[in-house]
Amino acid sequence: MTTGTPHPHIDTSKAHPARVYDWLLGGKDNYPVDEEVGTRLPPEAADAARQNRAFMNRAVAWLASQGIDQFLDIGTGIPTEPNLHQIVQKITPTAKVVYTDNDPIVLRHAEALLVSHPDGVTDYIEADVREPQVILERARHILDFERPVALSLIALMHFIPDSQDAHGIVRGLVDTLPSGSYLVLSHAASDLYEEQVRQVVAEYAKGGIELGFRTRDEVARFFDGLELVEPGLVTAPHWFRTDPAPEPEGSGIYAGVARVL
Ligand code: SAH
Repeated sequence: MTTGTPHPHIDTSKAHPARVYDWLLGGKDNYPVDEEVGTRLPPEAADAARQNRAFMNRAVAWLASQGIDQFLDIGTGIPTEPNLHQIVQKITPTAKVVYTDNDPIVLRHAEALLVSHPDGVTDYIEADVREPQVILERARHILDFERPVALSLIALMHFIPDSQDAHGIVRGLVDTLPSGSYLVLSHAASDLYEEQVRQVVAEYAKGGIELGFRTRDEVARFFDGLELVEPGLVTAPHWFRTDPAPEPEGSGIYAGVARVL
């Protein structure tokens, strides 16, 4: 939990996705309202958060090893080590990473995201994925969209319901990326562990957070027109490209990486 005077823009009366997720990961940047949601979730929720984070780690490390050196990460979350830029700049110190989140608590902690390797660049944009033009315009100050960019939407799109055109938003973002770019996406499943899903959705709803988990087919549609790289769209612990393989375990998170043709 965060101590001290809350930042004026931090609403501590209502649970927030970034802070519940931080609580699930064992972080300290959350408030009693967030903890209240977290403690009522099934134990699998913390596993899912950890597995999701580990997928992000493996996926962006692999992309960096493939020569990708520009990353646009939307729905970044509260800094959790290692952060994306730390992972990719360890492989490519000159890598440029632009982070985006719409929660003011992430901005408050953004200094941790902005400690770039001296040879690379990191930046932070406070913006909403539902306003992709705002993100793209600002990201263009740092990233060169004439060269491949990895767009990462990690555990983000299940906060955007179909009524807000989740698939259209992702399509619009991907359409701005040149050939050779990548989409990295993970998403909570609605068709695995259905009892736990009902519980998670109900508890977040009590905290005022609407979740739109999706079936495998619905998640697969985010990758339409792209070329999924091996091992395809799988659950998070099953996505790996390099040794050693992670522990085989069940997961309610779908994860995939696809190339823009
Ligand atoms: N990507 C990180 C954090 C996932 S938690 C990880 O996987 O480890 C989801 C994050 O998405 C939260 O930080 C939340 O604030 C952010 N988020 C939710 N809705 C958003 C929106 N409409 N626009 C931008 N970010 C959003």
